Amino acid sequence: MTDQLNTPRLPIDTTKNSILTEPLVDSFGRKHTDMRFSITERCNFRCTYCMREDQRFNPSSLDLTPDEILRIASIAHGLGIRAVRITGGEPLMRKDVVSIVKKLKNVGFDELTMTTNASLLSHTSRGVTMAQNLKDAGLDRLNVSCDSLNPERFKKIRRRGTLQGVTNGLQAAYEAGFEEIKMNVVVIRGINDDEILDFAQFARMSSILGRECIVRFIEHMPLGETGDEQTSWTPDKVVPAEEIVNLIDSKWPIKIANHQGDHAPASRWSFDDGFGEIGVIPTMTNRFCGDCNRLRVTSDGTVVSCLFSPKEARFRLRDKLRTGCTDEEIAQVFHGAVTSKKAAQNRNLDEPTILESPGAYIEGGSRGAQGTTMSQIGG
Ligand code: SAM
Ligand code: SF4
Repeated sequence: MTDQLNTPRLPIDTTKNSILTEPLVDSFGRKHTDMRFSITERCNFRCTYCMREDQRFNPSSLDLTPDEILRIASIAHGLGIRAVRITGGEPLMRKDVVSIVKKLKNVGFDELTMTTNASLLSHTSRGVTMAQNLKDAGLDRLNVSCDSLNPERFKKIRRRGTLQGVTNGLQAAYEAGFEEIKMNVVVIRGINDDEILDFAQFARMSSILGRECIVRFIEHMPLGETGDEQTSWTPDKVVPAEEIVNLIDSKWPIKIANHQGDHAPASRWSFDDGFGEIGVIPTMTNRFCGDCNRLRVTSDGTVVSCLFSPKEARFRLRDKLRTGCTDEEIAQVFHGAVTSKKAAQNRNLDEPTILESPGAYIEGGSRGAQGTTMSQIGG
């Protein structure tokens, strides 16, 4: 078993027709080419919209090892996955994150990106920043999260870490050679919606100064129990993407950018005067399910076909991996996850799907004390 995991993997021979090379196409004809890989659920932040202040995490022994991640990723590549986003929890909490990036790079994906809270990007080891180590390991792009440009408010929303830590991380990322960094902003009515124009201006300034940062406004989603009444999800806290676009357009005219990805959840907008770009991710108000090409693998090795998937659409891989399953069995799990995919998941504003603890699921009900958070599924 250990030998099997440690043996260097050969690329899957895609010229041979087998379950290992069959594209991941669901019952609605959607071909899956994009995978979000959560490598840990642990985090050094406790964002009020994501998890509880006293969040408890699974022991790290339950996390997939770098070789398990490599094995799953290689098989997924054979099945047609071409883009991987490493996420979490906070992916940089893992001490072996650079080696994971190197392994994933060698699989040959067209694009390897990471979403991070940026707080550890500027940390150095033997004089080299984490950002530089990630760049050297082959990471193509970075998404960083930041929900306020005001230090006090930042602290209030994210509970830990500092705005300065994020700006240091961004600086380290640009110095390492990352370009067109994307910044995720979760917009919550009454909490940070008064900063939409500030963030738009930030996107413009970054472009003017030659260090382009594309700000992406995300609609607040009802995922998990966060233990904070002020920011816990309610329909009225969702700021519709359309409202965000109209507000920005009224100040600085914008137009749809002409390089939209076919399946990208974000709609991208560029400023008419050529300086800067923003994106909006209408996770609540506009279903992009029809176009969905994404699958998720959680840090404990569960394949999830959608952030809003019910428990019967979660497929566990880790135990199979640890009891010596074949590559074909793993491919079968991916096919099962894709086949289970619905045309769309319920995320109705008045009756959202709520995810409880991993394994438990209720629809349209109140949140459980141990809600599944974005950090467990991987945002
Ligand atoms: N820790 C990393 C970070 O914060 O960027 C990566 C994981 S985090 C779960 C991925 C993204 O999900 C972040 O941009 C975060 O802001 C977003 N997110 C978390 N909870 C959310 C929620 N309830 N609604 C919308 N976006 C959320
Ligand atoms: Fe951690 Fe990211 Fe969740 Fe914030 S959003 S608590 S940084 S995983």
